[in-house]
Amino acid sequence: MSDYDVDLFVIGGGSGGVRAARVAAQHGARVMVAEEYRVGGTCVIRGCVPKKLLVYASRFRGEFEDAAGYGWSVPQWSFDWPTLIANKDKEIARLEAAYTMTLGKAGVTIVKQRAVVADSHTVQLADGKRVRTATVLIATGGAPTYGDPIPGIEHAISSNEAFHLPRLPQHVLIQGGGYIALEFAGIFAGLGSNVTVIYRGDNILRGFDDEVRHHVRVDMEKRGVKVITGCTVTAIEKNGGRLFARFSNGFQHTADCVMFATGRAPNVDRLGLKEAGVAIANNGGVAVDEYSRSSVPSIYAVGDVTNRVNLTPVAVREGHAFADTVFGGKPTAVDHSKVPTAVFSDPEVGAIGLTEGRARQRFARTDIYRAMFRPLKAALSGRDTTVLVKLVVDGMTDRVAGCHIVGEGAAEMVQMAAVAVTMGATKADFDATMALHPTTSEELVTLRTRTASYVRQAAE
Ligand SMILES: Cc1cc2nc3c(=O)[nH]c(=O)nc-3n(C[C@H](O)[C@H](O)[C@H](O)COP(=O)(O)OP(=O)(O)OC[C@H]3O[C@@H](n4cnc5c(N)ncnc54)[C@H](O)[C@@H]3O)c2cc1C
Repeated sequence: MSDYDVDLFVIGGGSGGVRAARVAAQHGARVMVAEEYRVGGTCVIRGCVPKKLLVYASRFRGEFEDAAGYGWSVPQWSFDWPTLIANKDKEIARLEAAYTMTLGKAGVTIVKQRAVVADSHTVQLADGKRVRTATVLIATGGAPTYGDPIPGIEHAISSNEAFHLPRLPQHVLIQGGGYIALEFAGIFAGLGSNVTVIYRGDNILRGFDDEVRHHVRVDMEKRGVKVITGCTVTAIEKNGGRLFARFSNGFQHTADCVMFATGRAPNVDRLGLKEAGVAIANNGGVAVDEYSRSSVPSIYAVGDVTNRVNLTPVAVREGHAFADTVFGGKPTAVDHSKVPTAVFSDPEVGAIGLTEGRARQRFARTDIYRAMFRPLKAALSGRDTTVLVKLVVDGMTDRVAGCHIVGEGAAEMVQMAAVAVTMGATKADFDATMALHPTTSEELVTLRTRTASYVRQAAE
């Protein structure tokens, strides 16, 4: 070890890198982290956290609207975008400082510059310095992509810029049907923008349960967001501060802001990975084994740069497992099979486990239990909305293989349901659980009647 300047060099101070660095240092390793932008990474600086703050801001509109049915008269409300952005930035700066302090307290050295791999045991810093290290951890995350090139794409923004717009746009066009597209649709619509979502596929939220996808779309449209599917933006022109987007169906659309949320790609370019012999997987990320080790034994990778499941808790878990494996003497693999996920759109989605479609491919028999109902809160507010609660059950073992909820509080409910699903709870276990009344989540334990049962057809 003494041949090296450090035991671990982490490239990237985001969710995965920070956790790995701190835990490795606590295991006694000499650790250095390079961060080229801001400590905290995507989640803290321009992902989950600022996004959720904007989501909270956007949801006040619904509360103000719903208040009247409960006897409140709310004076004419108004919203100020610069105040929200300034307060959000203050909180992000506070979090960045907290992350930096935590790393410092653990004895980790932070270098605020870009770093690349020079060889299997050397990292090259932007200032020209070279650091010799026993182990390298690539934790460089991902970045927004814009899909196939189209004329005028330079006029479009990604989620990165959406957090720093100088003013709230009046008319927003969002291309994309994934969680980032829909969350920003909800944010802008809630804050008062006129929002259109355009997506090339047949329905939004690809990969989610089909009923969830349908439910979200219908409810979003009720809230005034226009959703166009089977269509893409083919060109953007700018004229006098306004943007004119041409669609593949021949229509034209005018907006103040065009946002592309068309996916993210792992940050693997110009990192010296190819030269060092690090293999890239078919998914475009660094190829790793279950311990996050790459094809080069001294180089590991965690988080979005591996393109496994691109979520913060997964990056954190991978970073922790890496540190325990390499520096804690406790080889730890991460189970990616049951990852709860949320879409903080309006309406909100929470999901864990298999969709109905996947289950029907996998199980000899799949049982579906579903409830769709008007939430109690809507009784007095008069809001036209429904909640969807759905359990997907392996009909042969009675295990709950999937839990899907659309409606207020869906993410919070699914985080708790995820404990049961991860433990392998059966439908009978759900039934045996006493309901907590009156709540939305009590539906999870009172779904007595099977909605459908499917037997897998034998392959021809
Ligand atoms: C808008 C948005 C909303 C999201 N919402 C959620 C959510 O609600 N829940 C959730 O779980 N996940 C969410 N995510 C995903 C989540 O942010 C990522 O999965 C997570 O941040 C991945 O962590 P990471 O450590 O792999 O990478 P990152 O957090 O991206 O960190 C990588 C870091 O490496 C730095 N870096 C890159 N290259 C170099 C280099 N060569 N030298 C030095 N530094 C470098 C980058 O500047 C960055 O700070 C969201 C993402 C976005 C974009």
